[in-house]
Amino acid sequence: MSKGANPHFDAVVIGAGVTGMYMIYKLQNSGFTVRGYETGADVGGTWYWNRYPGCRLDTESYSYGYFFMKDIVPEWNWSENFAGQPELLRYARYAADKMDIRKNIQFNTSVVSAEYDEEQNVWRLGLDDGSSSTCTFLLTAVGLLSATRLPDIAGIESFKGISFHTSRWPADPESDAEGRPIQFEGKRVGVVGTGATGVQVIQHVARRAGETYVFQRSPNWCTPLRNSPLAPEEMEKIRDNRQDILAHVKTTPVGFIHHPVERNADDDTPEEREAFFERLYSTPGYGIWLSNYQDLMVNRKSNDYISEFVAKKIRERVKDPTVAEKLIPDHPFGSRRVPMETNYYEVYNQDNVHLVDIKEDPIECVTAEGIRTSSSQIDLDIIIYATGFNAITGALERIDIRGKNGVRLTDMWDDGPVTYLGLQVRGFPNFFTLVGPHNGASFCNIAVCGNLQVEWAVEMLEYFRRHGINYVEAEAEAQEKWTAQVYEDFAKTLLLESDAWWLKIKHHPDGTVTKRATAYIGGGPAYRKICDEVAREGYSGFELAEIRPGAAPRLVADRHAPALPQDVPQGAPL
Ligand code: FAD
Ligand code: NAP
Repeated sequence: MSKGANPHFDAVVIGAGVTGMYMIYKLQNSGFTVRGYETGADVGGTWYWNRYPGCRLDTESYSYGYFFMKDIVPEWNWSENFAGQPELLRYARYAADKMDIRKNIQFNTSVVSAEYDEEQNVWRLGLDDGSSSTCTFLLTAVGLLSATRLPDIAGIESFKGISFHTSRWPADPESDAEGRPIQFEGKRVGVVGTGATGVQVIQHVARRAGETYVFQRSPNWCTPLRNSPLAPEEMEKIRDNRQDILAHVKTTPVGFIHHPVERNADDDTPEEREAFFERLYSTPGYGIWLSNYQDLMVNRKSNDYISEFVAKKIRERVKDPTVAEKLIPDHPFGSRRVPMETNYYEVYNQDNVHLVDIKEDPIECVTAEGIRTSSSQIDLDIIIYATGFNAITGALERIDIRGKNGVRLTDMWDDGPVTYLGLQVRGFPNFFTLVGPHNGASFCNIAVCGNLQVEWAVEMLEYFRRHGINYVEAEAEAQEKWTAQVYEDFAKTLLLESDAWWLKIKHHPDGTVTKRATAYIGGGPAYRKICDEVAREGYSGFELAEIRPGAAPRLVADRHAPALPQDVPQGAPL
């Protein structure tokens, strides 16, 4: 798409991952003028950026993406139960073609600033190429795991070998930006980080590299993925039942196919528990986390049972008892995302794989030749940083977003996010954060929960158009109640006992630490029920108005006001 001079759109969508793509599609189909801006050169978001070897879904492929969304790509055949990144990127590209959305997306373009102009009731956007545009409604689909985070280690720039963050793997997987071949065979490779990404990449690298050094700060509870091919006949059956599958995943707390059992851990005898855990451990995917006992995340004792079970498995699988103990976490099982693995623990039985416990032996710096810890210099050819993201709020914080009176979003959220429904922030009219903080889609199978949210948001914008509304702002009380509820729900669980990416952790000068939840954990069904009620009540909790130049603002006080005498036609100014 060509770059015009300061154009105006009904809506701008920032980000063209699975969420932004669907939002753009729905808006263009509803007759809104829409522009998408995307930093990357193509669609796909997560699957465009994360090209590291071993990257794949931990959600069942067929319950991810647009499978349930009417007639977008029903013909797609997933080749595996848990698809790999290359297939996911091909899928996103194919879906974009089918949705015919590329014409409305400006690629290779980052939004760097967004300022609400109170007088004109528009958002003014600044782009990284120096150009600008305006829009009435600004919707962010910037991703909760898209703002990469390199570790704050001295000397990182001085390394002479090949190095990158997993989410910025070169587009050509064969060579880096300087044309140097990326081959692990015979090489000394360091991997920093052992989250879900590190675990996937380590499995791949350790089987190829000459020597692999894993720099682990904290271990995670990892359980088997048990991936397998998905035969075309199975895909056919799944396709025939896709509306039933959708109905099912809409009932599960986080939009996966897995449902917790309706029993507490202590309802079973120790033998029954052991047999149940064995069954979960041998089942593909997230059953062990999501189909576990219903009190897993709220009852320490229940959590201890599964933690002990998985610790036992680690001890069985890792031959060296000292290494095994280092791989056993001390946080509650599931209080951080559980990395799914395929023979991950077995790589530590190889003589050429070395676990460097950097809590015991901290990294001092990166040197030209490798990594220096407090005890030794480790020479390396390649360093892979699997160090995660400034999650959930990070991509929003990288844009200079200013609402009424020039207030910055980052200042508003300095002490943790405050939102209404995780979609709006008071003082930032007409600005919506899809899959944002405190939002029901962000602690979820995003490609289902996010897309259902997109459908809700588009219906909302259609309602506004019918009613001549072009100003929407969260009410103070609604925002306060929602934010308090999110924090309260989170505090009832064991999730606060870890420092996972869904917590915003702040170290204060007086030495105190605050942990703020960035995720709504009330579950998809509850969240959608609340959103549907809000819609039924004519978007309760939002101040709605019509603002036109030269006229006094018309406040929409009557939530059930009939549509304007004549429905505002598609394409009319918002
Ligand atoms: P993203 O895919 O992150 O897309 C956001 C887009 O916004 C990016 O392309 C980015 O370039 C763009 N963007 C950001 N800021 C700007 C800006 N200022 N200007 C212009 N463009 C901008 N979720 C699951 O449910 N199941 C999984 O199995 C799963 N696996 C994952 C594996 C990895 C390695 C990672 C990192 C995440 C995984 N996730 C998984 C979470 C995943 O992020 C979501 O499933 C989903 O892809 C999010 O889609 P999105 O469109 O909301 O965001
Ligand atoms: P992550 O879970 O945040 O893990 C980052 C890792 O880097 C942690 O081990 C962390 O250690 C370490 N680290 C960070 N800073 C460091 C430093 N300065 N020095 C040393 N180590 C450092 O990030 P991620 O692994 O990229 O995963 C993020 C999320 O993406 C996952 O939770 C998941 O939701 C999604 N994902 C999914 C899949 C999948 O299977 N589908 C795969 C990859 C990612 P500490 O733990 O000590 O902080």
